[in-house]
Amino acid sequence: MDKPKVIIPREEIAKRIDELATEVRRDYKGKNPLLIGILKGSFVFLSDLMRSMNIPVEVDFVRLSSYGAGTENSGKIKLVKDVETPIKGRHVLVVEDIIDRGLTVRFLLDYLSFREPSSLKLCALFDKPSRRKVEVPIDYVGFTVPDEFVVGYGLDLDEKFRYLPDLCVLEERD
Ligand code: 5GP
Ligand code: MG
Repeated sequence: MDKPKVIIPREEIAKRIDELATEVRRDYKGKNPLLIGILKGSFVFLSDLMRSMNIPVEVDFVRLSSYGAGTENSGKIKLVKDVETPIKGRHVLVVEDIIDRGLTVRFLLDYLSFREPSSLKLCALFDKPSRRKVEVPIDYVGFTVPDEFVVGYGLDLDEKFRYLPDLCVLEERD
């Protein structure tokens, strides 16, 4: 299970991000939004999205850990690194790589809304709706992907494969 097979090539990812960035720019123009990326997976997406948006934004990151390694985890979420920017009164856009069961993002949205941002929205590059356990409204979504474990474009399997520029699934090596 360690041979990456491309399912969404980099050119398609780039094109879709440009479309998302156009939408986000239109909605946030003049609002100096704060983009909050969820480490580590979303840093590749956030960096492409931010540059394609081409309006003034600020950036911060949180790190959440869900206990357990591999392709499954227990569903218990813990905040490992908090935002450093005060978010009260800010227009906050959470930027995530992939929404699977929805637990990670649900936890973060609840946590952030408690601090009274002016607005709080979610942008996810990939969505696996078939696996959803809790409801999360995704305001901007790049691609719906099938129920398979994907890697590349920032997404890892035990810290491997993040560097791949395309979105891939892992196949048996022949
Ligand atoms: P959720 O809490 O929605 O189940 O999990 C979301 C988190 O699990 C994502 O932030 C991501 O880190 C990880 N995840 C979910 N699906 C995948 C996948 O297909 N590939 C990788 N690499 N990570 C995933
Ligand atoms: Mg993640």
